[in-house]
Amino acid sequence: MELSLLVKGGLIVTQDSKRRVLRGDVFIEDGKIAEIGTVKKKADETADASGCIVMPGLINCHTHVSMALMRSVADDIQLEQFLDKTFAIDSKRTPEDIGIGATLGLLEMARSGTTTFVDLYYSEDIISRSVEEVGLRGYLGWAVLDQEFTTQKGSPLSNCERFIRAHRNRPRIKPLVAPQGVYVCSDETLMAAKELANRERTFCHFHLSETRSEVYEYQKKKGKRPVQHLADIGFFSKGDLAAHGVWLTINEVRELARAGVSVAHCPTSNMKLASGGVAPLPEMFENGVNVCLGTDSSSSNNSLDMFLEMKFASLLQKASRWDARVVPAQKALDMTTVDAAMAVGAGNELGSIEPGKKADIVIIDCGTPEMVATTAENAVANLVYSSPSGSVRDTIVDGGFVLKNRKIVTMDESKFLRKAGSAAESLLDSVRKQ
Ligand SMILES: [Zn+2]
Repeated sequence: MELSLLVKGGLIVTQDSKRRVLRGDVFIEDGKIAEIGTVKKKADETADASGCIVMPGLINCHTHVSMALMRSVADDIQLEQFLDKTFAIDSKRTPEDIGIGATLGLLEMARSGTTTFVDLYYSEDIISRSVEEVGLRGYLGWAVLDQEFTTQKGSPLSNCERFIRAHRNRPRIKPLVAPQGVYVCSDETLMAAKELANRERTFCHFHLSETRSEVYEYQKKKGKRPVQHLADIGFFSKGDLAAHGVWLTINEVRELARAGVSVAHCPTSNMKLASGGVAPLPEMFENGVNVCLGTDSSSSNNSLDMFLEMKFASLLQKASRWDARVVPAQKALDMTTVDAAMAVGAGNELGSIEPGKKADIVIIDCGTPEMVATTAENAVANLVYSSPSGSVRDTIVDGGFVLKNRKIVTMDESKFLRKAGSAAESLLDSVRKQ
């Protein structure tokens, strides 16, 4: 039997349609939010949230979580060398390394207030075990690409299909199809990926127009820019999720809006890899493209902290548009909660604290130096601009604690971190010896 939990006396940043911030309680029953406000009911367990913000768990809409074991292995170099270096290390990794990397990334997310993430990788079956062990929620996209480019054993498309069939009824896992990007996927591969997603009633998650050279090379080869070509061949389906979308023309923005494709903007990764250009967020908003945020990997970010991602998303637009009004704090928070929930097709289940939604909730201690003083008026700004990931006290998924009073309760974290440390060292050693 599921237990009930009462989160008492917090400042609730609801993210409901009126974006209300109110002082009160949240009553959780059977993994769902049952009531908010002044709750008189008795619960099996009570969490005192006075002096805290109670907010929806953040949603990271693009990452490669198992690369957490490859943190800071390829910094301050150009994209081409970055890819060479990360591929070289990646090819040395064992299935065990992938599992350890995923668990490491998941712990980082749990401690920085992320409850749901979207992943793009191979070996998602291994990653799914880490998701279940740590206790977060994963939308896991198995990478699909042309046979000639893959390091996967067997056909990526059949591997993806097998993964989806084996994982479609897991409560914390939603399997996706992840065509890696137009530079490694022929039209046939892309359309086969789309058909698989339709058949399995899921969606496609893919990289799109991340760098200028990717777009120019494609245009040279195909005579059209990627979004235009993908629209022409009928690849897009409503509900798909594209990562990056940096190099888009206004017509491509309109095409994505028409197709109902969401964009996971990854500002830190784009800046760090010097992709040049800045994703045209104001134009996406104006034309009705749903935009959410992603960290991308621990090698290109090198953090999975969504609070930082919100801050950088807002600052990058302000700096590049010479306009402090673009991407205000409330919009940045929307992009990691309600808009992100919509991007993964879970607008009715995730992204806000409202009765009936899944109880994915984060409690932030506002007695820390970076959060004093938090009021109903500045709570959203503090969340976005004051970098409170170090103040995350509790992380709750489906009404159960993953992080409780700053301690991971689903597994032995310190023992695991020692193991992860030595796995990362031997991985780097094996690359050094090459
Ligand atoms: Zn990526």
